[in-house]
Amino acid sequence: MKFSKLAHLFSQLESTTKRLEMIDILSNFFKKIKKNKYYDDLDKIIYLLQGQLVSNIKQFPKMGIAEKMLIEALSVHSGINKNKIKEVLIKKGDVGAAAELILSKKKQQTSLIDFGKSGPIEYPSLEITDLYSELIKIAKTEGSGSHDIKLGILRGLMGKFSPLENKYLLRIITSTLRVGVSTQTIIDGLAIGFTGSKENREIIERAFNLHPDLGDVTLILAEEGIDEVNKIEISYGTPIRMMLASRVPYSEIITKLGAPFTAEHKLDGERLQIHKQNDKIQLFSRRLLDISEQYPDVCETIRENIMCNNVIIEGEVVAMDPFYEKMRPFQVLSKRRRIHDIENIAKEVPVCVFLFDLLKYEEESYIDKSFLERRKKLEEILVERDDLRLVKSITINSTEELLDFFNKARKEGTEGIMAKSIKENSVYQAGNRGFIWIKLKGLEGGKLKDSVDVVIIGALYGKGRRTGVFGTYIGAVYDPENDVFIAFTRFFSGLTDELSESLTKDMKQYEVKKKPNYVICNENPNVWFKPEVVIEIIGDEITVSEKFSSLGYSMRFPVFQRLRPEKGPRDVTTIREIKELYETQ
Ligand code: AMP
Repeated sequence: MKFSKLAHLFSQLESTTKRLEMIDILSNFFKKIKKNKYYDDLDKIIYLLQGQLVSNIKQFPKMGIAEKMLIEALSVHSGINKNKIKEVLIKKGDVGAAAELILSKKKQQTSLIDFGKSGPIEYPSLEITDLYSELIKIAKTEGSGSHDIKLGILRGLMGKFSPLENKYLLRIITSTLRVGVSTQTIIDGLAIGFTGSKENREIIERAFNLHPDLGDVTLILAEEGIDEVNKIEISYGTPIRMMLASRVPYSEIITKLGAPFTAEHKLDGERLQIHKQNDKIQLFSRRLLDISEQYPDVCETIRENIMCNNVIIEGEVVAMDPFYEKMRPFQVLSKRRRIHDIENIAKEVPVCVFLFDLLKYEEESYIDKSFLERRKKLEEILVERDDLRLVKSITINSTEELLDFFNKARKEGTEGIMAKSIKENSVYQAGNRGFIWIKLKGLEGGKLKDSVDVVIIGALYGKGRRTGVFGTYIGAVYDPENDVFIAFTRFFSGLTDELSESLTKDMKQYEVKKKPNYVICNENPNVWFKPEVVIEIIGDEITVSEKFSSLGYSMRFPVFQRLRPEKGPRDVTTIREIKELYETQ
């Protein structure tokens, strides 16, 4: 398909905020694709609709193009000087919209001069597959002379595209392509477009949770039909979307789960989904990226101490003291994020994996089995040792027992506990935050002991000691239904001078000229950010707030706790959870 057709679709989608209209636009688009049976770049179309170049479980190489180079390319291409372009850029707030405006003005002028001689300007556009090849070339060009080569490719692309296509091209290059459709909406569009019935969305969603590459799932849907999508199962080498926990007041846990249930330590480390295929070990992070290289020691211990050929298990990796007696906080584990000198860092920061689940054993999927069955199999195949253990767990029959276990867990340095149903229906719900798992991190009334994860969307410059660095940040929570981020609180306490400085530097790369349209915020910060950096905050309580009126709630006395690099923007606390926290505190 030509990129021009996709640009037209993007612009249609951007012209509405109504979910039902978006579903209509998408399903009609997919119906046409189905009629033409042209599926060569259908997977890429899906990724671009998701605002990405590749699926959630892959990473496209970095393009290595700064805004300066884009302005240069735009200036050479349009013949308009750089300062003028910068002015438009500041006004428009995003390089894509600026390019569209500049190039359409230019087009009008050229048409007026040329009309009669050559007719209106035609743009040849480019097949999406060929656009990808050019983008890969840009990303792969490195070293001396790379600036000119990248610029050349970029100008070549710009010349083939209309002003509208250039808008989206530049957004793709700056990783700011997001046309406002959530994955849920795309799935609705796929169900109607390819199967004629929205009811099939559940089959597609289930497949996506087990194989989080919506491009792959769409190709199977288009080429082989919904029955084949229904056959997609958890497979080795592809991470599945992880099951998450909800929160309820401690006194209600027993009613939600029914006695007896299991309670486990909730450990303060990093979630790992471990895929073992004979000697090949892959570790996937909560963001579904392969992080095996960060933990060669973990790979080794899994290889040696898991007694079966093939298995998928989950656990929390935690930093330990050199004698493997005490757990160390998450900040210590963060040192393991480096990509260099891994062997030495591994010695400096020993870790232990505490396993808590099993999702596939040899050729059999375990996700639809009850929690006790999964746990039993896990116990069977594990040889426990200092650096590989089962997470501590007990059976609970009453709220008193729960409180007792919670208090002991906290004394042992954990974050709290995870209460898990052991009923028949306690299956592993991939990608779901249901009530089969319930997390408990705080108890006391009055003070909110549970933390909230927010994504940074804006900042204000500091005064006094904080001159030159950001003094106050604005954090947002997530609304999964509409795929938007809603401002929740300002915060400034808890940041050390050192952290303030490094965060200010780190945040530079996410600066955008204008508030993105998928961010809802009435505040007026000095700087807006693309929502990317996740942090954990803790406060006194959740209050009803007029100031943060879009959400209606905010946090009293928020204090920065720590960065959460293992979480993505869509992993932050949701608006539903904030309401639950408000009601239960
Ligand atoms: P939260 O990030 O607060 O929503 O809590 C969910 C996270 O707790 C999971 O993604 C795991 O990384 C972590 N966790 C720690 N201990 C456990 C446990 N016993 N069972 C499940 N998750 C756990």
